[in-house]
Amino acid sequence: MDDEMVDGPNRVPLSLANFKVTGHRIAVGGEHTMVELVKYPHRFVADDDERTAAVNVWRSWWDNTGYARDPNTPNPHWDSHTRSSHIWTSVGEGAECTTGTPCIFCLRCGQVLQHPNGQRSIGTRHIVKHQSTKACSSTEAFVHDQPHTPFTPRPRTTSLSTPLYSTEALEEELVRVVIDSNWSFRSVERPSFLRFVDFLRPGTVIMSRYKFEQTFHKQYDKAKAALLSDIGTSTKISIALDGWSAANHLSFLAIKGYYINTNWKLRERLLDFVPLRGKHTGFSMAMEVMKVLDETKMKSRLLAVTCDNASNNSTMVTSIKQHLETENIDWSSDENLILCLAHIINLVVQDIIQHLKLAASDELTHTATLQRQHIEDVEARSSVPNSLRKVTVSLSQPFITS
Ligand SMILES: [Zn+2]
Repeated sequence: MDDEMVDGPNRVPLSLANFKVTGHRIAVGGEHTMVELVKYPHRFVADDDERTAAVNVWRSWWDNTGYARDPNTPNPHWDSHTRSSHIWTSVGEGAECTTGTPCIFCLRCGQVLQHPNGQRSIGTRHIVKHQSTKACSSTEAFVHDQPHTPFTPRPRTTSLSTPLYSTEALEEELVRVVIDSNWSFRSVERPSFLRFVDFLRPGTVIMSRYKFEQTFHKQYDKAKAALLSDIGTSTKISIALDGWSAANHLSFLAIKGYYINTNWKLRERLLDFVPLRGKHTGFSMAMEVMKVLDETKMKSRLLAVTCDNASNNSTMVTSIKQHLETENIDWSSDENLILCLAHIINLVVQDIIQHLKLAASDELTHTATLQRQHIEDVEARSSVPNSLRKVTVSLSQPFITS
């Protein structure tokens, strides 16, 4: 670091002499005043080491300026990586030689402007406004040198990667929106929707609901084909399944697949979500499982089946075994059936709770308030599910069975 100083109240080090620039400020009456600045070196030095050294010298100079030492002035983010506006490609930043006041200078016309987060956070609108003025835009040659390392705006981050626009991408995205929003297929023909699309991108043609249905099926097939695309050619797959009835009495069977992919990562995929009609017999469920195994070409690679210990599930695995036998596939329903432990615990807990209800006699009434208080305490302390919480409470208190 060069300790020799040049003149001025803030004693700019000689090694920063190359970073001194002269800009101008326009007063209210239109009067120009010249301003001496020391530009922040970051973008103006090509060499990495030289840049780091220059920034260090600059920072130690600036930290001792009147502006930086004043506890009431905010520190700007010098060359901040959080900037995303393109406007930063046409300006430089620095501080006034005499006071250290942060400022922006227009590379084109040299006018000095307020730093967006100098005195107060004001954004970059004033820079945009300045560069659209005739005085700036009519400047033929740039007054200041362009930076060596151009400003690269921070890329906008989105949680989903948005594809570039194309007719195909539009159709795919439209299917995504309609399904995700639970809209009817007819929605794509609604005048308000078409108006909205035209507003976003004039002239965009949206497919009819008939074409939409075809596109939807095509995309469904594509997604299904890609479902197990990363499974090895001889990898075994295990499945877990459970039935579920909706409030409107419609029943479904969810079948999930588990496997280790070619990169040794454990994968979990929803293979199908089948509406169950009629009786949920073990045989009918086995038929659905066989259909899925057939479609995914996984019949010969089935490893284990996990399900709860309802009686129809035992019939189902026996039925799967028989189906596989007819195709000369050796699969043992005894060795490869895994009963879901969580379901068994659930049954045990439900049984205990059932007994607790029977025990709720008048004898307990006088301790009810105390117990309620205890339950509230446990609830506040723990995050165990409700049923287990009740058990915790009961085990910690003597309970009476009738
Ligand atoms: Zn300008």
